[in-house]
Amino acid sequence: MVLQIVTVPCLTDNYAYLAHDPDTDVTAVIDVPEAAPILQALDNKGWKPSLVLLTHHHADHVQGLRELLAHHPAEVIGASGDTHRLPPLDRGVAEGDTIKIGSEVGIVMDVSGHTVGHLAFHFPQSAAVFTADSLMTMGCGRVFEGTMPQMFESLGKLAALPPETMVCSGHEYTQSNAKFALTVDPANPALISRVKEISAARAAGRPTVPSILVEELATNPFLRAGDAEIQAHLGMSGAAPVDVFAEIRARKDRF
Ligand code: ZN
Ligand code: FE
Repeated sequence: MVLQIVTVPCLTDNYAYLAHDPDTDVTAVIDVPEAAPILQALDNKGWKPSLVLLTHHHADHVQGLRELLAHHPAEVIGASGDTHRLPPLDRGVAEGDTIKIGSEVGIVMDVSGHTVGHLAFHFPQSAAVFTADSLMTMGCGRVFEGTMPQMFESLGKLAALPPETMVCSGHEYTQSNAKFALTVDPANPALISRVKEISAARAAGRPTVPSILVEELATNPFLRAGDAEIQAHLGMSGAAPVDVFAEIRARKDRF
């Protein structure tokens, strides 16, 4: 059986996730922006979490952990290289390590860039990846701590996952991401139609997260730095994709 995944809106625009293995009744929480909505979502399902996966150290992804643990003692897993600034971990992990949610095996990916030590958790059997502030719906996280080449490489690893993979990211930034994407890739028909769908979803109050990787490959400009039309539009025809990525990210920072 595949993991049952519940998206939990938190704070103003964050998402946490519940991932439940129905075969073993094991539940994980991925990121804890605040405890109350997560506790409510767990209650609604009748699930008790036994592990918490943390993607990165930013407060809007970890600050509800203490309160969650007060209700549900659970094993806390995060980046072994970030123990100095994460809440206390029961287990530190790094690129290539495996974690289990019941019978489901997940692979830890280092997707540094937004922060150094940012992790993603990929569950191949369930075709899901928890990406937080690395790859997002039609966007990517701002490059705060890492370098542009590092973020480019991280997004490349995520882009290489099977195209049907569900991308469970950390924020509802899609409307602004979509507006920006049109400024660098205005003639892309897949993008134009997706922007319409996204506007309709947001107008109806529906989340645009998670998304499917194949849609990101077709419309997310941060995964399309090698695209000839985007390069031409930016006056960078033939440039190295990493340089085109850096230009797109810099434009988004000013957008
Ligand atoms: Zn962050
Ligand atoms: Fe965040």
